[in-house]
Amino acid sequence: MSARQILVLRENLSLTRRLENRVEARTAELHHRAFHDALTDLPNRALFNEHLINAVRRRGRGGQSLAVLFVDLDGFKRVNDLYGHATGDRLLRAVAQRLTRTLRTADTVARLGGDEFAVLLEGPPVAGDPDTAAQRVLRALERPLRIGPNRITVGASIGIAVDVNGDETAEELLRNADLAMYTAKANGGQHAERFATEMHSAVLERMRLEAELRSALAHDEFFLLYQPVIDLASGVTRGVEALIRWDHPRRGLVSPVEFIPAAEATGLIVPIGAWVLRQACAQVQSWTVTEGAVLQLNVNVSAVQLADAGLPDAVAAALADSGLDPAQLTLEITESVIMDDLPGAIAALHAVRALGVKLAIDDFGTGYSSLSALRDLPVDTLKIDRSFVTGITHGKAATDLAQRIVQLAEDFGLHTVAEGVEQPDQAAALTRIGCESAQGFLFSRPVEPSEILVLLRAGSAEMVDEWSGQEFHPKRPSRGPDRSIGYGISGATGVRTEQTAT
Ligand code: C2E
Ligand code: CA
Ligand code: CA
Repeated sequence: MSARQILVLRENLSLTRRLENRVEARTAELHHRAFHDALTDLPNRALFNEHLINAVRRRGRGGQSLAVLFVDLDGFKRVNDLYGHATGDRLLRAVAQRLTRTLRTADTVARLGGDEFAVLLEGPPVAGDPDTAAQRVLRALERPLRIGPNRITVGASIGIAVDVNGDETAEELLRNADLAMYTAKANGGQHAERFATEMHSAVLERMRLEAELRSALAHDEFFLLYQPVIDLASGVTRGVEALIRWDHPRRGLVSPVEFIPAAEATGLIVPIGAWVLRQACAQVQSWTVTEGAVLQLNVNVSAVQLADAGLPDAVAAALADSGLDPAQLTLEITESVIMDDLPGAIAALHAVRALGVKLAIDDFGTGYSSLSALRDLPVDTLKIDRSFVTGITHGKAATDLAQRIVQLAEDFGLHTVAEGVEQPDQAAALTRIGCESAQGFLFSRPVEPSEILVLLRAGSAEMVDEWSGQEFHPKRPSRGPDRSIGYGISGATGVRTEQTAT
């Protein structure tokens, strides 16, 4: 072989090697891409499953145990809505980093998709204690993340699945962790729960409820009842509180106590709440137009709605579409909701109040408001919780308590409405201590619009009798100057009766 031939051969050889190296690198890259998430570079679902399957095969050997954490961020959608998707993506990357740093290198941290992550813990039981690991993750995510100019805090709901029986498949472990996460989220989020067998049926039930809620809106299964709010001094109906009901195709009437929590957990309360606002405003405005009755309308607004940036728009749209005077609308927000995130609540309350609507604190007395907080809140009315009304005729202590609340409201220039008045002597006592208005079965249960209309048209005594207790004798309804309707209260109850025009 000539020197030249040897040279060519060498060149060819090195060329081949270079080519081979490139193919190898490219294959490795493709392999990496196939098994890693492009955004965070964490292992993806496929790789996680592979690790999990291997871990399941290895388990039991040398005291190895395994557990799966299913981590789902709380409030990630809100970050996306508020700051945009680019920030959302950066946040996911930052979370991925935190997770990796928080856990041991032996643990597999993967992104399953969206804001869902999974962790595979493998090792001797103590070192890999899944509850401790979950707590570490929760604590790590409690600290705000710095994304560009923003400091953003997201929490997480974590489900833990441990292989207790030693015979769970990889698939079962991941699914159990998912179910436990779902339960943690449904129970308020920001914490971890261990999988328990009962979760299966509970979660299935919840999922069915969710699916049904989703279709309920589309199929017009919700409707509103209205409960009159009575002016205690005059017996006049000042307004109504709208209360939602669900006419379930199979289960019949479902109470809001049953489905509002699920609607909140899934965010469905936002479209449902928007529907309530539209429906109630249109209804009350129709009474204004056809009956000339200017009723106040109270609508309940849940925590999730208050936290939703779209609430002012939803309220404005309901007002604009119906033509209802904003001054006729009061939004009721539960006290505990306001106290849970005071600065956030104050900002949101100001935003809706700018539309000219009023605000009431619902269930007042149950949420431990501080006095200074009350001063800072842009509210108009306190609704005294039923628990205070119940005891009011049973002793001095309960009466004193209710009186203190009324006094407090007066000091802050707020109106008072007592909730859940069932007995005439409760109404009497409330009137004595200076409470302005009341609601309750004594006056009326929540009723169909048609019954409110009857009340507005004539306020037939029989009907009012049927609604209320024996001693509470309605008189003929009056039409005062404000054209609101009312009925009297018997002298026997000690409640003042003030019927102007008859
Ligand atoms: P809430 O806002 O405190 O409403 C008052 C509840 O007390 C209503 O129950 C009403 O029917 C009931 N009630 C009225 N008078 C009396 C009485 O004299 N005695 C007794 N024992 N109860 C009385 P309801 O309609 O089942 O509503 C329950 C809760 O569901 C409401 O409590 C409110 O928090 C929520 N809710 C109802 N409608 C809506 C809605 O449209 N949106 C939202 N977000 N929540 C709603
Ligand atoms: Ca209410
Ligand atoms: Ca209430």
